[in-house]
Amino acid sequence: MDYFFRYLVGVTILVVISFCGCEGNKHHFDKGSYAMKREDMVKNQIEVRGISDKTVLEALRKVPRHMFVPVESQDYAYNDHPLPIGFDQTISQPYIVALMTELALPKKSHKVLEIGTGSGYQAAVLAEIVGHVYTIEIVSDLGKRSEKKLKELGYTNIHMRIGNGYLGWPEEAPFDAIIVTAAPEEIPVALIDQLKMNAKLVIPVGKVFQDLMVITKTKDGIKKESIIPVRFVPMVGDEK
Ligand code: SAH
Repeated sequence: MDYFFRYLVGVTILVVISFCGCEGNKHHFDKGSYAMKREDMVKNQIEVRGISDKTVLEALRKVPRHMFVPVESQDYAYNDHPLPIGFDQTISQPYIVALMTELALPKKSHKVLEIGTGSGYQAAVLAEIVGHVYTIEIVSDLGKRSEKKLKELGYTNIHMRIGNGYLGWPEEAPFDAIIVTAAPEEIPVALIDQLKMNAKLVIPVGKVFQDLMVITKTKDGIKKESIIPVRFVPMVGDEK
């Protein structure tokens, strides 16, 4: 009996300790095995392909990507490909998220705009690095679901709006960088207008064949660079 009592006390203490360990932790939904998969993802998909910005790698190590995909796909969340997130949309391949983030040259003091909130994952990665993230999603139910998820995960520096990303977010402009995660056929003019001088717009452009492009606003005009071929969902709507 005495032995059983001690056993019971021991188990109770262990349970209490493991619950307390979770309190106050922003990413308390995380599990050890996912942390290992995440580390593996950063090493074998992202660092090896040349992403070297420490803040970007750190953000990818931190954000619990499995929390941004449907429960039945959580085990595949750290694999080297995009995944469906419902509403006919996808969460991008981890490497593409890392690449676009690095190309935007994010800094702690920055205010960044993202077009196409989707699952909220790219917004969360940015929010680990920059001061404020503004993100716009055109599919209302998807946007609301992601806004709730980001709140649950403890992100207080992500501001989300349901709307047409072609118009940007003029009230909060100008931005230090803009990342677009759906592909328009042409570069939306409003987004260039809403960039600060020397800031970057990172955007997939095209229909079937798309190029990931970096547009830099300079005092002499717009500089365009083509980075790699990509495949994003189309940016819907137009500039009106
Ligand atoms: N960044 C997302 C992936 C986005 S998928 C993530 O990390 O999960 C592309 C998203 O862009 C979709 O959710 C789609 O609904 C949205 N989208 C498409 N056209 C848009 C537009 N004109 N304005 C805002 N969002 C748009």
